[in-house]
Amino acid sequence: MQRPLYLDYAATTPMDTRVREAMWSYLTLDGEFGNPSSIHAYGSAAMHAVDIARMQVAQLIGATPQEIIWTSGATEANNLALKGSAYFYQSKKKHIITVKTEHKSVLDPCYALAEQGFRVEMLTPQKNGLIPLQDLMMSICDDTLLVSIMHVNNELGVIQDIHQIGALTRKMGILLHVDAAQSAGRVPIDVKAMNIDLLSLSAHKMYGPKGMGALYVRRKPRVRLTPLMHGGGQEHGLRPGTLPTHQIVGMGVAAEIALQALPEEMPRLARLRDELWQQLKVIPGIDLNTDFAHAAANYLNVSIADVDGEALLHALPGLALSMGSACTSAQYTPSHVLKAIGVSDALAMSTLRMTIGRFTSEDEILSASMAIKNAVLHLRQDRL
Ligand SMILES: *Cc1c(COP(=O)(O)O)cnc(C)c1O
Repeated sequence: MQRPLYLDYAATTPMDTRVREAMWSYLTLDGEFGNPSSIHAYGSAAMHAVDIARMQVAQLIGATPQEIIWTSGATEANNLALKGSAYFYQSKKKHIITVKTEHKSVLDPCYALAEQGFRVEMLTPQKNGLIPLQDLMMSICDDTLLVSIMHVNNELGVIQDIHQIGALTRKMGILLHVDAAQSAGRVPIDVKAMNIDLLSLSAHKMYGPKGMGALYVRRKPRVRLTPLMHGGGQEHGLRPGTLPTHQIVGMGVAAEIALQALPEEMPRLARLRDELWQQLKVIPGIDLNTDFAHAAANYLNVSIADVDGEALLHALPGLALSMGSACTSAQYTPSHVLKAIGVSDALAMSTLRMTIGRFTSEDEILSASMAIKNAVLHLRQDRL
């Protein structure tokens, strides 16, 4: 049986085969399998590979290698950024600002901090998902410790104006954390120009391995964090544990490829996305939730009125995509992101998130749009 066509690059990306090739040589006896912390030749060979990867990841975001802390993914990086900074600075300040449309791995640590006595404020974005700078400005007070705002939203694709936000937080002496899991390798990032203090990355969102990520921690001016784990002192004691050389090498190579491919990949994906929308927009009652003028090129989030979401999903067995609702214990709940931008529960249920990527072809765009148009047509006919 043919597998469904993959339109879910925001959920995860297939690893680039060049990444896999690089990872092979850090696993077995004939390769550099040593513990990077060991003092002998095995250790230093592995550490050399880790150092190169650190440079590659730093280059992707305009950081220095010493500012990169390896983690198990963006979830851990977000936890370390939020809790680590909150705990370190809690005797001085206790107010944290974030946004309703953040990823769960930012929202849940924030809820946990709220239970521990921090004051967490959630901003509401406008209809297109952007946070008006004035709203952020108005919520800042003397007690504000940290602002956490994602770069590219994982459901809508909207790109927050981090340049503007960073200029504000730097001026006010407030830390800025950015979840860049969806933007790294998809839109340019420069942590220095954007005045970002903490930035989370995930390897599997940029054609690297799952279970690997990094946190950028600014050195000048220095950002201090309280570690969440204690152990062998690796990563300046911020994230102890034996470094997974092959995973790190994979992330490094993925970062290098992403940086090099970016200028050519962005316009190609935008072209495919435009084409997909051109095909779909003729569907009566279809609504665009992605504001193309302010979005990463690989996103198309649409709501389709007058069709049942569950039926629509079942009518599209040939497409692997995400819905505007999540099914938890046989109950469909509308996405918190769509809710926050004012999409009704009913419409959220019949929302499709399509995300394309490096291996998406023009043919796939055409078959996907045809499948969706046919499915909607049939579902509506059946109802008559
Ligand atoms: C995928 C994702 C995460 C979680 O990353 P993991 O590496 O899977 O832990 C966090 N934030 C955003 C925006 C994401 O898209």
